[in-house]
Amino acid sequence: MDILVINAGSSSLKYQLFNMEDGKVLAKGIAERIGVKGGNINHSWMRQGAYLTKTLDIDMPDHHAAFDEISGLLVSKDAGIIQHKDDIDAVGHRVVHGGEHYTQTQKITDAVKKAIEELIPLAPLHNPANLIGINAAEKAFPNAAHIAVFDTAFHHTVPEKAFRYAIPEKYYLQDRIRSYGFHGTSHRYVYGQAVKYLNNKKLKAITIHLGNGASMCAINEKGESVETSMGFGPLAGLIMGTRSGDIDPSVIFHMADELKIPLEDIKNVLNKQSGMLGIGGSNDARDIGRLYEEGNKNALLCYEMYGHRIKKYIGAYTAVLNGADAIIFTAGVGENDALARHYACEGLSALGIVLDEAANVSGNHPEEPVEIQSGSSKVKILVIPTNEELEIALQAYQVMRDRVDKSPG
Ligand code: ADP
Repeated sequence: MDILVINAGSSSLKYQLFNMEDGKVLAKGIAERIGVKGGNINHSWMRQGAYLTKTLDIDMPDHHAAFDEISGLLVSKDAGIIQHKDDIDAVGHRVVHGGEHYTQTQKITDAVKKAIEELIPLAPLHNPANLIGINAAEKAFPNAAHIAVFDTAFHHTVPEKAFRYAIPEKYYLQDRIRSYGFHGTSHRYVYGQAVKYLNNKKLKAITIHLGNGASMCAINEKGESVETSMGFGPLAGLIMGTRSGDIDPSVIFHMADELKIPLEDIKNVLNKQSGMLGIGGSNDARDIGRLYEEGNKNALLCYEMYGHRIKKYIGAYTAVLNGADAIIFTAGVGENDALARHYACEGLSALGIVLDEAANVSGNHPEEPVEIQSGSSKVKILVIPTNEELEIALQAYQVMRDRVDKSPG
């Protein structure tokens, strides 16, 4: 069975085609600058065990045009990997917000699309693009099953005492204001990898996804998310590339009332100018790392603050879980930045968390799970490469298999 995984943004479209018999990626790529001039598609495909790559410079007025080009590439003689686009059995779509209703991966129907649309006020940056991607993909691959995998779904097990905000009930009941959490696909995937790697089906773990966006998740011995650091939106919790993470709401009132900064500008400051960029001068940890090596004080402060915030959540989630067996670092910073992991884990020996500094450094860029704790550490510290696309493909595959199992005869 071949499954195409789609992650649609407002002007970009990422895709990966999986062969589910062996989980191998047959082809992958990204279409960028959709709807603006100067578009291009960077396409890679598997030939005799190695990936070949080609870049197509082509303007794509909309997502339909992008899918036409991508499906053309997938069946083309020189860069193709399938005979006909009907060889794709299913398309798995990343959808950011599934609200309270969608707690599982869903076969996409009109009702599911309507729900994704109704959730736009809760995810104004992501759900509209996800929906455009679904509609365009349905046209491009009319004979495939289309399946939505929601970023929020994994967190549906978070209990009410953790997901509610202590504000009047009507804001929850009428306005759906509560914590939802995101990055569920990644948290679920790395947790599953850790369960396999440690051969512990009752693993209690704290997963730490540190990409451009960043979040943490407490996962109990049943594999359920019971707390997560992003909330109603993606601004809460950890310090991120350009987002502030947790901030006292009084700061926002002060900015508006006393500093007379318009609300749109405040939003922009907290979402786009804060985090590592605001403290260290770049949203890319590699830049901050270079500045740190040169002895730059802001870069040092940036790592200290970044690590301190993670450390606070490790403490909180250790309490929520009544002890964790493992903490797991993943995503761009989590997998590749030993310094960030160092500052997140230092001074946690009272919780049984002790890093092996050499293993931490050699644990960068892992292809498989690696352990980086010292011999005296009671808690395993793992670095595990995330693979949200594979998780989406696996989820879609499961839905397809369930359909076959349930079909008569
Ligand atoms: P996204 O949230 O967009 O999926 P990623 O998980 O790919 O992001 O993480 C991207 C971030 O990872 C970059 O902005 C950078 O800060 C960090 N990163 C990537 N490679 C490295 C590296 N080799 N060393 C340190 N940080 C890195």
